[in-house]
Parts: sequence; C-alpha cells; structure tokens
Amino acid sequence: MKYISTRGDATERGFSDILLEGLAPDGGLYLPRHYPKVDAATLARWRGLCYADLAFEILSLYIDDIPAADLKRLCEATYTEAVFGTPRITPLKKLADTHAGGVYLQALSNGPTLAFKDMAMQLLGHLFEYELARRGEALNILGATSGDTGSAAEYAMRGKKGVRVFMLSPHGRMSPFQQAQMFSLQDANIHNIAVAGVFDDCQDIVKAVSNDLAFKRQYRIGTVNSINWARLLAQVVYYFAGYFQATTDDTQRVSFAVPSGNFGNICAGHVARMMGLPIAQLVAATNENDVLDEFFRTGTYRPRATAETHETSSPSMDISKASNFERFVFDLLGRDGQRTKQLFGHTLAREGGFTLTPEEFARIPAYGFVSGKSTHAERLATIRRTWGESRMLVDTHTADGLKVAREHLRPGVPMLVLETALPAKFADTIEEALGFKPEPPPALRGIEALPKRFVVMAPDVAAVKRHIEAHCQDA
Ligand SMILES: *Cc1c(COP(=O)(O)O)cnc(C)c1O
Repeated sequence: MKYISTRGDATERGFSDILLEGLAPDGGLYLPRHYPKVDAATLARWRGLCYADLAFEILSLYIDDIPAADLKRLCEATYTEAVFGTPRITPLKKLADTHAGGVYLQALSNGPTLAFKDMAMQLLGHLFEYELARRGEALNILGATSGDTGSAAEYAMRGKKGVRVFMLSPHGRMSPFQQAQMFSLQDANIHNIAVAGVFDDCQDIVKAVSNDLAFKRQYRIGTVNSINWARLLAQVVYYFAGYFQATTDDTQRVSFAVPSGNFGNICAGHVARMMGLPIAQLVAATNENDVLDEFFRTGTYRPRATAETHETSSPSMDISKASNFERFVFDLLGRDGQRTKQLFGHTLAREGGFTLTPEEFARIPAYGFVSGKSTHAERLATIRRTWGESRMLVDTHTADGLKVAREHLRPGVPMLVLETALPAKFADTIEEALGFKPEPPPALRGIEALPKRFVVMAPDVAAVKRHIEAHCQDA
C-alpha cells in the first residue's frame, strides 16, 4: 500500500516512510491510496479471530514494507491480556436500554492509562522501536499534554530502545491521579517536564522547538500526535472487533457512537466503513465545544479560537480544531486534493472557516455520519441514568457519546458506544453526579503516593532545548 497527501501531492510513500513523520510536505495528511475492500468471505473468516490476529489481518492490508512474521509478532506483543486486562481486549457490555437492537458500551479503556488512546499508542511503541532498530536510528519524542495523550505516549514508549520521550505538562494543573500516572514512571527514557504555565505555553514551546529545523534535525525530534496514520489504523481494528461481538452474521448492520475531539477515533470508523464493514451510522458526539456537530448539521466548519474553547467536564474533547477532520473531508470531496487544499489551506486560513457547497453537503448521509452534542447537565444526567438503570459507571466522555447515541437509535440496529475512558480518571464529576467517587482499578490504587520523577521549568524555549541536549544521550 502506498500513501498520498490530502492536499494533492501525489508523491507515493510507503508505510514505514510515513510512520515517523507528521504532516505531508504540502501540509496535508497522509491517507492510503485506496481503501482495501473486505469481502463477505474475508469477514466470515475474521469473525473467528482473536484480537491480535484480527489486528494483524487488517494491518497487513495497509503495511507491505514490514515482513509478515514481524508484523504478526508486533501485534501479538501489543494486544495481550496482560496489557489490556481481558482476553477479548475490547469487550462489549450491554446496557439495560429497551432499544430492540441493544445499546452497548465497547470497552476501549482497560489499557495502562485507562483511556482509549492506549489502543493505538501501545502498538505505536512497538512499531517505533522496530522501525528505529531497523534503521539504526534514535528518536526524541517531544510533546505537550494536558492529560490523556501524554500519559498514553509515555506508557507506550517506556523502556523502548531508540526512543526517548520529553513530555511537557502544565505544572500543577493536571489531576493528582494524572500527575501520579506520568510522574511515577521511573524509566530512564521518560522525561517529564512540568512547565510553570498553562497548556498553551507547553504547546507553544513544542511548536517553537519543532520550527527550529536545525535543532530538530540535530536532535532527531519527533512527535506522536493524533494525525499519525499508524494510530488511526490501529483504531480501525476495534470497529471490526465490536461488530463481530454485536452480530451473529455478516449481513447485520450496527451503528457506532463516538465521543469526538480531534476526529481521530471516529475517522477510524469511517475507514472501517469504507472497507465494507456493515456500519449503518457513525454518530459523532461532541460536548459544549460543538465544532463538529455544527459541521454535520450545517456544512459549515468553523474552528473556534483558543479563547472561545470551553473548559468542560469532558476535557479530552475540548478542542478548537479537529486535526484529523481533513481526512474525512478529502474522501467526502471525492478525493479531490485541489478542493481540499482550497478549503483547508486557503479558505480556512483566510476566513477562519469554510462552508461546503449544497451539493457537497448532500453527500454526507451516504457516508453514514450524524451528530449531536451534550452539555454538563446532560452529562451528569446520563451518568445517573446509566448507574440507575444498568448499575454501570461511565466516564464523562463516554456519557456524551451515550447521550447523543440515544438520539439516533434505529429499530433493530445495535448501537455501540465507544467507552473512551474509565470513570476513575474523572472522579470529581462522577462524585458530582452520584455522590461517590469511583475506585481506580486495583493495580493503580495508591499511585498518588509513589515517588515522582519530574523537573519544573519556566516556560522558556531555550531552557527546554538545553534540557533535551543534556539528556538525549541517556538510556
Ligand atoms: C482523546 C479522547 C477523546 C477524543 O478522541 P478524538 O480521536 O480526538 O476524537 C475522547 N475521549 C477521551 C477520553 C479521549 O482521551
């Protein structure tokens, strides 16, 4: 499989070429030249596979520059009961709703950091280690986090050869649990930098360092952000895994509801649907930051300014600009790279948004997308209802997904809501809804008391660079 850019640069690249890269040189995102179609016989064969083998089959369709035996070994090393807590990896739980097709939660959050980002990041850790060893290279991953992504990256890269992680976070602004998760890691290749500032300061530093091309090259600075194609690809697997659990034969259809921020998770559902997985609807759920809901209702995409972005109780969906969204729009526009470039490279930059033509907008139903939004009060009500009816605790993001899912139920079609985090990560809001705090899983109880390993730094680009220089020979 070869990969192309969404903005018309047709230079074809292999999977291993784009694995360690961010944006395409023309500013677009990488996508496969086409989506492999999965026929009925293949679906029937895959139904019986365990998660690691299913991952191998799907990845094989998109990766032809890693020998099959190696790829299989990497999938088997990633998707284990030891890492994800259950042999099914992403089991379904049925809610008490009376909806004829059934309403399910698909558990994606049983990995080491209790959020769905582990599903892809754990694979990325193995892929990076493999590819860097093959090239005889090393990589220093620099990132900024307000919580989920940074810890998922650190747990995926800890102890991996050839990789170091320098993760900036706003000092004192993460929850005690999140801080403990990251700062208790004692691996020599993990470097936590608590910046005396806010998340935007952290992000500005990452941008400034990455824009210094000489520094970036000399110190081999890379990222693991959500536009990485390998992350998206890894996420395609659980749509198939969820489908097989909710159905008994391959003529049935299901819908998925996805708590969305950067549009990475639901974009993987779009890819699965394009491959032929019988998905009726892809339900994009947003919180008060409703850029995506507005788009699917009106055809206007209007990212908000940072100052206009609400701080909500489902913080991992508090995004202003959905970084993966361009991939879907490229497909919607019939893979017209010039039109995509016009919208994302020009109109968006000049006017702060764009509106599809009526003809373009009319194509959306054919792609299965619908949407909705959820507010803080609705989030609390959903957490209460789910506890009351089903005796299940859902986290704030999953609650947004569930609230919007219920607005789009269709007779006889199972609705699978992706559970993107465990409630223990957002204990304060659960307590607000129910009057008690959820327990973290046994393995993580008491981590707040473990010794912490981090440095505090001023929001100063030069100081961060010196820190990287001083530590990039470690481990
Ligand atoms: C990252 C995240 C999301 C949003 O996922 P996208 O792929 O950015 O749309 C939703 N919920 C949780 C808990 C997350 O960590």
